[in-house]
Amino acid sequence: MEDTPRKPGFETLAIHAGQEPEAVTGAVVVPIFQTSTFAQEAVGKHKGYEYARTGNPTRTALETCLAALEGGRWGLAFASGMAATDAVAHLLSKGDHVVITDDVYGGTYRLFTKVFARLGIELSVVDMRKPEAAKRAMRPRTKLVWIETPSNPLMKVLDIAALADIAHRGKALAVVDNTFASPYLQQPLKLGADVVLHSTTKYLGGHSDVVGGGLAGNDEELRGRIAFLQNAAGGVPGPFDAWLVLRGAKTLAVRMERHSANAQAIAEWLAENPKVTTVNYPGLATHPQHTLARRQMRAFGGMLSFELRGGEVAAKRMAARTKIFALAESLGGVESLIEIPLAMTHDSVRGTKLAPPAGLVRLSVGIETVDDLIGDLGQAIG
Ligand SMILES: *Cc1c(COP(=O)(O)O)cnc(C)c1O
Repeated sequence: MEDTPRKPGFETLAIHAGQEPEAVTGAVVVPIFQTSTFAQEAVGKHKGYEYARTGNPTRTALETCLAALEGGRWGLAFASGMAATDAVAHLLSKGDHVVITDDVYGGTYRLFTKVFARLGIELSVVDMRKPEAAKRAMRPRTKLVWIETPSNPLMKVLDIAALADIAHRGKALAVVDNTFASPYLQQPLKLGADVVLHSTTKYLGGHSDVVGGGLAGNDEELRGRIAFLQNAAGGVPGPFDAWLVLRGAKTLAVRMERHSANAQAIAEWLAENPKVTTVNYPGLATHPQHTLARRQMRAFGGMLSFELRGGEVAAKRMAARTKIFALAESLGGVESLIEIPLAMTHDSVRGTKLAPPAGLVRLSVGIETVDDLIGDLGQAIG
């Protein structure tokens, strides 16, 4: 017998963290507390809940689970990934500066350049594959270093530990958008990040049936500042949406294993296909940051992109011809999706230096039978 009980593993936390049987009825699954307000026994005497923008038990369960999965002390849930991004950006004041990775999620770039720039927040966009580039971009008023890895849609892999160190030397916060990897594959807080961000719409939800966002971290003072913004601005998820993400998270580990195995097989198959010119997948030994990806990720995930001989025309033709891969935006669900980033998800960066190649095809590889997926891609490439 061991004296100190071992810490629960990831899969156990996904199913149980914040999700003890409910106190009144013993319900094994966290109920959907579909209520906007909570009765008080006397003025100010209550069970921890007053008004559901400030807190709701279903959301609390999700926030506790998110924190556990990222190995953090706190989690906060939002109505969308962008609402979570907006809350972090609101930590800043006029004249503050942000260093952000190029190839960042288009909506994040749009928020900083079209909304926060107007409010006096300055932005430097750098290719963070060389951490020195981020170091050179730091200024006295740099407050955030915004990291996203692997990136969307080019699958660049960034060194989280090195970049967090640069942020901290400049007294800035290191924020990692961990949407593509999910906490099962990569845990940025353990590598030094201060805040981890998720679009829970993607792998955490996992079934393409909910829009949501989340943050996790360790510092309590920072939690207080962000929770204040969450309540003050009100971008919170409803209880049913929180419940859907919580349900999705239970199977995250098994889904990510299959997403990764299927994507690896597809990436290897594409790399052998004479009609394919480039494949971007961190699990390929030919990926420029493959060694780094091995070091900071458990496996390489379900996202990949590639280019075809014949460029944009061939790419659009292929995207219209797949039968199992649905032509759709978004990612991270059990079903496979195909899209052309520049024409679809990345329209907001068209004409900027963040614009991906017009002929780039992005796949969100689902958990269907891999031979069916390869067969579908084969007939679509033709
Ligand atoms: C989708 C996405 C977001 C934005 O999340 P929403 O839930 O759509 O608001 C942010 N970052 C990444 C990497 C994403 O894929």
